[in-house]
Amino acid sequence: MLVPKHRFVAALVLGLLTAHAVGLARDCRAAGWVNTRQFPPFDVWTEFPLTEVQDLLAELAQLQQDLHRDLGVPGAGQWVAVHLFRDKYSYARYLRQHLAHVPYRRALYVKSQGQGRVYAYRSRELPTDLRHECTHALLHAVLPVVPLWLDEGLAEYYEMPAAKRSFDNPHLRTLRWNLIFGSAPQLESLEKLGDISEMKQAEYRNSWAWVHFMLHGPEAARQELVRYLWEIASGTPPAALSQRLEQRLPGTRQRLLAHLKGWKRESWLSAFR
Ligand SMILES: [Zn+2]
Repeated sequence: MLVPKHRFVAALVLGLLTAHAVGLARDCRAAGWVNTRQFPPFDVWTEFPLTEVQDLLAELAQLQQDLHRDLGVPGAGQWVAVHLFRDKYSYARYLRQHLAHVPYRRALYVKSQGQGRVYAYRSRELPTDLRHECTHALLHAVLPVVPLWLDEGLAEYYEMPAAKRSFDNPHLRTLRWNLIFGSAPQLESLEKLGDISEMKQAEYRNSWAWVHFMLHGPEAARQELVRYLWEIASGTPPAALSQRLEQRLPGTRQRLLAHLKGWKRESWLSAFR
């Protein structure tokens, strides 16, 4: 379902998964999963005792509510299968057998025949990986397409624990450092990206910056993002977000830079006093 001609990516999609997608439950039992439990909308299968990660899994259910609160994204309305492997060797073995044509990554979100699936393995990074991939899954459960940069920018934003999303993402520090040397994120450049292989560290970071600006900067920017996603959901191909933001908030890039430079925990807290 990659749609590079529109510079959109709907998901990492694999035509060869056709056979694999049939009979999820049968596949899972055959693979020897230890536990399975539903944390709506996630249908979770683990190769290790699920109790080890049940707090994390419960937190994922909140993720959907956060997407709705922040972006107006409705509930998934369908199950997302989450496969958690005991270690990276078991994970890699499974990928070799079932997803051989997918470039190896520490965690994956795949959509095939309308079924979203997340794959990850038990590690120190699992909470981050799971929040990241499940953000992709929740977005693609309700949106026919998501621009690649926005897909990754949102996943980078929501991969942090809720209490750390606003101020504690390491991207912020790096962006501020880069600003000293005049390197600033350009939305138009990000919008030209059409393939995940073009997404390097800088592109992830810059995508995060624009998402952060829209969620924590001027309210008009967040409104424009919400409207943009709504138009995608309703099947209306929206104009580039960079154009829309510039129309609504002239000098958007300067506003982004000011936002990144001035974003402080204290100023945010003082708004509530
Ligand atoms: Zn991602």
